[in-house]
Amino acid sequence: MALKEYHKKRIFNQTPEPTGGKPSANMLHFVVQKHDASRLHYDFRLEMEGVLKSWAIPKGPSLNPADKRLAVMVEDHPYDYKDFEGIIPEGNYGAGTVMVWDQGTYEPVEPLPSKEEAEKYLLGQLDDGSLRFRLYGKKLKGEFALVHMKNSSMGENAWLLIKHRDDDASESDITKQDKSVISGKSMLQLRRNQNL
Ligand code: MN
Repeated sequence: MALKEYHKKRIFNQTPEPTGGKPSANMLHFVVQKHDASRLHYDFRLEMEGVLKSWAIPKGPSLNPADKRLAVMVEDHPYDYKDFEGIIPEGNYGAGTVMVWDQGTYEPVEPLPSKEEAEKYLLGQLDDGSLRFRLYGKKLKGEFALVHMKNSSMGENAWLLIKHRDDDASESDITKQDKSVISGKSMLQLRRNQNL
């Protein structure tokens, strides 16, 4: 089962993180979470096969095609994780503040007639280690590639997230837009809310 590793790492009466979720019929979703854990990073997640395929990106995504951002593939997360924002309490796996930094839908660069066919196509690309997709987020837009680095010194889970050259490419630092797209809150505000 795809979520076995996710469940194994967590104790669900001690963390508010979601356990499952049922995808919508028509669209493929993505989320990018800013996660202030032992090290600040961004988690990039693409819906596939009813779960969220996930990569941890230390420097966060970039709209600059010249940037190649290391993206370390991690365990699949449940579909409902795309809306998770809050605090993972101390002592739990990934303890720290989680913000929904960006969210939206995505599709393969190749136009396909149905969600089912799009997913099948993307899973093939995932297997091949070369995903190409178009994001419709609030911050991230346009075409991107996730490319598996074979024989990398960074290990077998190392991928690169790269922006394609298109009208949405930009040299400005998108991570400077640092508020949640669902609550409008900053990391500090999310952290403080917890203490009220
Ligand atoms: Mn994380």
